[in-house]
Amino acid sequence: MAKTKLVHNYAEKLGIRKKGKVSILGILFLALIFPPAATYLHEIGHVIALKLLGCEAYTPTVYFYFGATPYNCSEPLSPLGWAIAAYAGPFMALLVGLLAWFYNKDSLLRLFALFLFFYGFLPNLVWQMKGTDAYYAVVHGFSPFYAQIIMYGGLVLVLYLVAKEVMEDE
Ligand SMILES: [Zn+2]
Repeated sequence: MAKTKLVHNYAEKLGIRKKGKVSILGILFLALIFPPAATYLHEIGHVIALKLLGCEAYTPTVYFYFGATPYNCSEPLSPLGWAIAAYAGPFMALLVGLLAWFYNKDSLLRLFALFLFFYGFLPNLVWQMKGTDAYYAVVHGFSPFYAQIIMYGGLVLVLYLVAKEVMEDE
């Protein structure tokens, strides 16, 4: 079993782990913090992309597990524009997740990275499922073939990172 190096131990500092044991109160606290934090980061990705595409985008609303970014485009987005705006949310979650994952292997950051991968990123790539970001990209003309490649590529990347950590020797 691989050992995670704890350079900065935020979990210990915040009382989520005490003397090597995980505190259930700490986990309850994280379960309140992680979903809105991940959702907000995801929505910020949509905001940045919409602004780059020349649209007005307003402060995202976060309803704990769900988020929405109000926007207004003076001209309708092209299929590619739609795909960029839609995929920017999950890809922002992936980007922040990767930074958290590789930043000195702190256990708490890695826990948040996993949450971002499996909540803010991967589920939104399932283009066959109504309501996901990828679904909206495909509905507006993005190729299901590429949507499938992005979905599978994302899954392989995340599985590879986790497998390296839990299956490889130090
Ligand atoms: Zn989204």
